Amino acid sequence: MRDLRQTSTFITGGARGIGRGIAVAFAQAGSNVIIGDLLHRPEIASEADLTVEECRKMGVKAQAVQVDVCSEEQLINVANSINPDFGPLTTVVVNAGIIASGRVEEMPVGDWQRVIDVNLTGAWLTCRAFTPQLTKNGVGSFVVISSVAAHRGADGYSAYCAAKSGLLGMTRALSHELANRNVTINVISPGYLGTDMWFKAILGGEDKPDTQTKAEFDAVVDGAVPLGRPQTPMDIGEAAVYLASSENTTGAEIIVDGGRIAGP
Ligand code: NDP
Repeated sequence: MRDLRQTSTFITGGARGIGRGIAVAFAQAGSNVIIGDLLHRPEIASEADLTVEECRKMGVKAQAVQVDVCSEEQLINVANSINPDFGPLTTVVVNAGIIASGRVEEMPVGDWQRVIDVNLTGAWLTCRAFTPQLTKNGVGSFVVISSVAAHRGADGYSAYCAAKSGLLGMTRALSHELANRNVTINVISPGYLGTDMWFKAILGGEDKPDTQTKAEFDAVVDGAVPLGRPQTPMDIGEAAVYLASSENTTGAEIIVDGGRIAGP
């Protein structure tokens, strides 16, 4: 296994949710951490500060930078300005994502496009911008965050399912493209996590009491997940650390879903 100590890891969408769990897991493994996020709202900037603090408590260096994964220019600027004090950049976690719903005749084309732009094109742009850095360091790993939605259809989520399925194909193709540069790329497909994506975007939790949203989420998990519990950001972070440390795994997928898609 590769030793991640004294290296640095860049995580898109790392301010909160799954990204925070990934950041903390890499910090626990001894990697310095840079989180990239939109940071366009004050509350998200303070979420990013919290993530940075949690990483620093593990004794590593951590910082947050502003980046929109839809901007190739911003991504290249970040890739070219990684603080050398953080050690060589050897891992990039491609995590930033959004969700929007709407049936095929009803969803505005702009919503479809935005989901594809952030979740799929943004992931590809991230790999494109950071490949020179990982290649320069002679060893590297991309870890891409997809979803069980890459494997199961869901009424009203054609854009999200299309984008997340696309990440599987992108990962397989890039694994062949990058192998002779000693850069691996693998994908994690998480199941159900109680982040803002579920609580606010999917269940509309801004408009109802937290207890109701939580009860609705628990009911979904009870009905769908054989292990009977949701996944946590640390579950995903631990899988990401494994993939970034493994010297002989590329083009692979780890499904962290409590058994959701293993059966009917
Ligand atoms: P959250 O919505 O909680 O967090 C996503 C983060 O990504 C936010 O900080 C968000 O910033 C940021 N982000 C959004 N758009 C961009 C952008 N263009 N550039 C940079 N950062 C951006 O989501 P989760 O933590 O739940 O999800 C993380 C990943 O995991 C996503 O790819 C998601 O699809 C995937 N996933 C989530 C599951 C779940 O159950 N939650 C299950 C399976 C997969 P801001 O809020 O400012 O927009």
